[in-house]
Amino acid sequence: MKPVRPSAPQLQDLVPYDPKYIPCNIMNSANENPLDVDESIKHEIMREIRGVAFNRYPDPLANDLRDMIAQANGLDRNQVLVGNGGDELLFCTALAYGGPGRKFLNLPPTFSVYVNNAQLTNTEVVNVPRNADFSINEEAVLERVSQGDIDFVIVTSPNNPTGQLAPEDFVLRLLEATDALVMVDEAYFEFSRTSLRPYLLQYENLVLLRTFSKAFSLAGVRLGYLLGNESVIREYMKVRQPYSVDAVSQAVGRVVFKNRARFEPGINAIITERARLLEEMPKIPGVKPYPSDSNYILFSVPNAADVWQALFDRGILIRDFSRAPLLEGTLRVSVGTPEENTAFLRALRDIVIG
Ligand SMILES: *Cc1c(COP(=O)(O)O)cnc(C)c1O
Repeated sequence: MKPVRPSAPQLQDLVPYDPKYIPCNIMNSANENPLDVDESIKHEIMREIRGVAFNRYPDPLANDLRDMIAQANGLDRNQVLVGNGGDELLFCTALAYGGPGRKFLNLPPTFSVYVNNAQLTNTEVVNVPRNADFSINEEAVLERVSQGDIDFVIVTSPNNPTGQLAPEDFVLRLLEATDALVMVDEAYFEFSRTSLRPYLLQYENLVLLRTFSKAFSLAGVRLGYLLGNESVIREYMKVRQPYSVDAVSQAVGRVVFKNRARFEPGINAIITERARLLEEMPKIPGVKPYPSDSNYILFSVPNAADVWQALFDRGILIRDFSRAPLLEGTLRVSVGTPEENTAFLRALRDIVIG
């Protein structure tokens, strides 16, 4: 075969993303909502989709959905941007605020997508690792940004996969200490019931990331959004794909957002179940869960990789971080339905006790 020339140099050490998402009886590996969208809301979605003209390009900015999100947050449409999942908006962050000669401050262990996007855009990654308990090394972060060369920082709150909120007073001190763009990734804020939203209008450099994939059961649809100041949203608008949010996703998003109060009982159930898992897991010898403000729990357990495999063999898929840098010996379980959590606890106990 006639060969092809090499791809861009920044791709040489990258491996394509593979979530190891294998069909299983219990799928508690990806922090999804364990419940699909309610049947009656699905019917309303079908009606809304019937009104979509498939032959026409969608509204590039999803303005109807944008207005609904803006209104719910006491903002103006120019302070909101809808994306093809939060992931698209994370990539846009690297495109708009990263690039050759620019620097991204990362707080590992955290969501791996950030570093991947930095590598793709030739952005230098400056790591300030978390403390042993996964809290942020606050003084080290503040000291590093004070050097003045950081272009953007992402603070994940609650952090994935470790589970805890970033302290609000730390984020405010960070915002005061730098003019770098500070993204607070609030993908899981519905489970912590905390947001930096009240500070948006005080800090031009603050931008919040949200998603429909977790609390709102739409991981399969691909919708996320930013809340930020108009000047920042405008920069994102320069780099985004014009039609990244298709008309069908916009229709689904409008109906789900309009009905968002109906997701509250499900969110409350997850919070209740999280407390039960956090109480029950430490009763299993050697199992040490980290505190969680989210819909998943990171835990350490002896022989974690074998425990992961044994759970998998019993039809329970969770996320294996046992060989991941800074996370050695840990696994992450998403909070599922009460039945799923009971099955998980029982299997974990059987496997560990042997
Ligand atoms: C899930 C997640 C997102 C966004 O996911 P999308 O499905 O692309 O909306 C963003 N940040 C973190 C930390 C996440 O876990």
